[in-house]
Amino acid sequence: MKFPFWFRKLWQRHGPKRKLIIVDGDTPPETLSTRHLYVCRDEGENWSAAMSCPCGCGDKLELMLLKEVKPNWTLKTDDQSPPSLHPSVWRKSGCEAHFWLRDGHIQWC
Ligand SMILES: [Zn+2]
Repeated sequence: MKFPFWFRKLWQRHGPKRKLIIVDGDTPPETLSTRHLYVCRDEGENWSAAMSCPCGCGDKLELMLLKEVKPNWTLKTDDQSPPSLHPSVWRKSGCEAHFWLRDGHIQWC
C-alpha cells in the first residue's frame, strides 16, 4: 500500500524521527519497528543498516555500510542524534520507494 503524496509530504514534515538502534553483531532483528533505523555493529565496525520500508509496504530494507561492498551507504550519526544516510535509498523492485533519510526524517523523492 502506498500513501498519497500529500500525506507523505505532511508526514515528512511532522512525522516522528527515526531513532538509531545499535545491534550487536551482523544480523538485524527479525521484526523491525517503523520508528527505528537499526545498525548492525560488529567489533566496532558498522556492517549494515536495516529498516522497515517507510512507504508502509512492510518490506525489510537492508543497506550495506561496508566500504568493500557495492552498493554501500554512508551513515552519519554520533550514536545519539537521529541518523542520516547517503546516498538515497531507491528500491528497484517491489514498491520502488525512493527516499532520503536525513536527521531521522524520511524525505521522499
Ligand atoms: Zn515500500
